[in-house]
Amino acid sequence: MRFEIKLLGYPLEHSISPIFQKVALDSCGIEADYIACPVSESMLPNEVQKIREDGCLGANVTIPYKEKIIPMLDTIDSVASKLGAVNTIVKQNDKLIGYNTDIFGFTKGLIEHGRFKPTGKKAMIFGAGGAARAAAFALANQNVDRMTIINRNYERARLLSNELRNNGFSCYAQALDYEDLQSVVEQSDLIVNSTPIGMGKHPEENVSILTSNQLRRDIYVYDLVYSPIETPLIQQAKAAGAKTLGGLPMLIYQGASSFTMWTSCEAPVELMFEAANKTLNIK
Ligand code: NAP
Repeated sequence: MRFEIKLLGYPLEHSISPIFQKVALDSCGIEADYIACPVSESMLPNEVQKIREDGCLGANVTIPYKEKIIPMLDTIDSVASKLGAVNTIVKQNDKLIGYNTDIFGFTKGLIEHGRFKPTGKKAMIFGAGGAARAAAFALANQNVDRMTIINRNYERARLLSNELRNNGFSCYAQALDYEDLQSVVEQSDLIVNSTPIGMGKHPEENVSILTSNQLRRDIYVYDLVYSPIETPLIQQAKAAGAKTLGGLPMLIYQGASSFTMWTSCEAPVELMFEAANKTLNIK
């Protein structure tokens, strides 16, 4: 029997997951396809039901369904539950279990790929959506000293910082307005962009959230946007002499973790990077 893994989201043309997951499946000799299923909200329960059919190993879930999918599953693991978002569904004994591998991907990308140790550092996060939540919980787990969250909608940043405080993390979490930005940048060791600013085909694709003169060479800049590989923010950071990391390692490591959950095989991470880089350089 040929197996199937689904990617549920809408729209999905931008996603490069089908490319590197297929490479991983083929390289491990697994007779399966990774299929992008662009699905409307009204058809989502129907698509989730199809995961229960024989031959489907599970699914990835992406924007805009990471939260909406939760009530359609049988069990949610503790990390996904704390984050309030599922990006991976695994079928175990006919039950659909929801996981979240974004925190793992963020952390592994930063520490192993980016060689930055967040423990004890002062971090600043732009955004308060799904990616920012994963970044915030990941950094809190790593015991950063202080975390400042800046978001266009201040209330969402405030709620996220409260949530971190209520979860008993040791770091000091605060939300600030954009106008207080510069003083926080000056005191930060790590800056994370978890907004779509600078992302290809976004209305603000040529915009950088910070300019080189706002940055320093001893700040580390982690832009979760992965397309283009070198975003305007990364260009500005490099111009300031700062160390930088793009979003591709996070994407690959979260995908590699999902891959292992579905297949029980070690993911061929190098091959997945190679396939993703090739695609992004062509795009
Ligand atoms: P999301 O849940 O929709 O959140 C988007 C966040 O960006 C919100 O906080 C939003 O602010 C803010 N934002 C949107 N447009 C903005 C603008 N023009 N100016 C200022 N702030 C703006 O999306 P998400 O899932 O967090 O994804 C955000 C980005 O992260 C994506 O575009 C993607 O590039 C990247 N990402 C990367 C990975 C990876 O594996 N590397 C994974 C997930 C996401 P408001 O609250 O004010 O609306």
